Amino acid sequence: MLGLMQSHGLLISTILKHAARHHATAEVVSRTHENTTHRTTWSELERRSRRLVRAMAKLGIKEGDRVGTLAWNGTRHLEVYYAAPGMGAICHTINPRLHPDDIGYIVNHAQDKVLFVDLSFSPLLGMIADTIKDHVRDVVMLCDAGSMPEVALAPGMRLHCYDTLLNDADDDYDWPAFDENTASALCYTSGTTGRPKGVLYSHRSTVLHAYAVALPDVLDLRATSRILPVVPMFHVNAWGIPYAAALTGATLVLPGRHLDGASLAAFFNTERVTLSCGVPTVWLGLLQHLRSSGERLETVKRIMTGGSAAPPLLIDAFRDEYGVAVEHGWGMTELSPVGTYNAPKVAQSGLSGEAATRHMLKQGRVLSGIDMKIVDSDNKELPWDGRAFGDLTVRGPWVASAYYGDEPGSALDADGWFATGDVATIDPEGFMEITDRSKDVIKSGGEWISSIALENIAVSHPDVAEAAVIAARHAKWDERPLLLVVPRPGRTIDPDQVLRSFEGKVAKWWLPDAVIVVAELPHTATGKVQKLALRERYRDHYMED
Ligand code: ADP
Repeated sequence: MLGLMQSHGLLISTILKHAARHHATAEVVSRTHENTTHRTTWSELERRSRRLVRAMAKLGIKEGDRVGTLAWNGTRHLEVYYAAPGMGAICHTINPRLHPDDIGYIVNHAQDKVLFVDLSFSPLLGMIADTIKDHVRDVVMLCDAGSMPEVALAPGMRLHCYDTLLNDADDDYDWPAFDENTASALCYTSGTTGRPKGVLYSHRSTVLHAYAVALPDVLDLRATSRILPVVPMFHVNAWGIPYAAALTGATLVLPGRHLDGASLAAFFNTERVTLSCGVPTVWLGLLQHLRSSGERLETVKRIMTGGSAAPPLLIDAFRDEYGVAVEHGWGMTELSPVGTYNAPKVAQSGLSGEAATRHMLKQGRVLSGIDMKIVDSDNKELPWDGRAFGDLTVRGPWVASAYYGDEPGSALDADGWFATGDVATIDPEGFMEITDRSKDVIKSGGEWISSIALENIAVSHPDVAEAAVIAARHAKWDERPLLLVVPRPGRTIDPDQVLRSFEGKVAKWWLPDAVIVVAELPHTATGKVQKLALRERYRDHYMED
């Protein structure tokens, strides 16, 4: 027997309509290309998004078409975020930090019909125009008429000004209803191995994810929250915040392109931001700025960190020096992206000092809706004892079932689980801790060593700014850990002293056999240390010895 409840679909437009009707005056604030502050409201944003649908229709955009964006976090980008899926098209966010060849590949693979591009990326556009001309018909610069740049497009491609298109369109449009399983957005993983792969979100997965991240034990979003996502809207939907903010009527503050410590601190304080989200590198930059300038964070109470493991220093320094809680979330493009968040249960709520920091290093427990387990190489589930580590697999309504262009279900195992490629432990309370990406695990004499655990110790050393531990081939043990460290500005690193700082913190056989001091480490387009490149360069370090 079916229930007798109304069956309104979970559509992205319903989130926006809710914000416009019930939080009409709540603000969307953004930093513009010219470094000025632009203010609008959720009701105005909804109205302009309808105009944008009308403008896109004039460009020939239809349901199911891919609408590409190359843009920072800003209001116009947000309008595309809502207009494209709202009309049944697909918002395809592209990471501009990728290599131009990869960007060209992604645009062609997605067969984007139109690109919405921030002024910062007009040179990039010139570089890829020839490669993408078979699919992209129209390029819309996200600016006003007076700011239109000179862009060398390929013959047949048309250049437009966003504000002019919107001014010429009306807002006479009703958001249509359709199947909630319709595709809404597309995002490619940064392809640290092989070509980038597309993850195709649906309205249903996006709305459910937005509800989940808004919950109290995750972002705890309210109509009184003022949230600033530093995480770019081109990187996994800015962790779902553009949707979750509208869902809750929160004020959304978009930082534009200046993401350095000084710019962020200033924007946080002038816009009375209460909560922010981003990767550890951003928070280390902010911390450095606060310490050197003496500036304070006046209103920020919580920071969500994710994308790579947060070093203990980050958690301690923000808590002890600035009264800000740095909280760990974990996820990936294939998970929309948030899968776990570290909020205490009763047993952890009384922790303080070192024990609290140790616990906060864990990536957290699953958001309701997601299930997870760790398995061994025979796909047998491992115990939740906080010690056994194995491959982390997940399932749930906002987990991908296949990559774009592949058969539905092809990314899952026979029981419907998705292998994350991460290696983790889970403790008896269900708190998961990433020890490595599976391809980064160090296998020494048949036993596994966690590179993240070693990196956390290395970056706690006062002379070390950044550290990476990789597996280097070894004649006797197969692989042994090799530590690469970048000195802090003005400091010199004594490798022996760094090694001594490991004593008593991990088993003796976990200690790196060597330390190499380097000026910098290579990073991926999403700001993670590129361990593949490091392995290629240093894999045979111990063999050469
Ligand atoms: P890519 O970096 O390949 O584009 P994602 O941005 O989707 O892919 O990154 C997902 C990966 O980032 C996860 O599989 C995990 O390895 C890592 N990651 C994400 N959050 C955390 C975290 N809080 N701690 C450690 N690693 C994390």
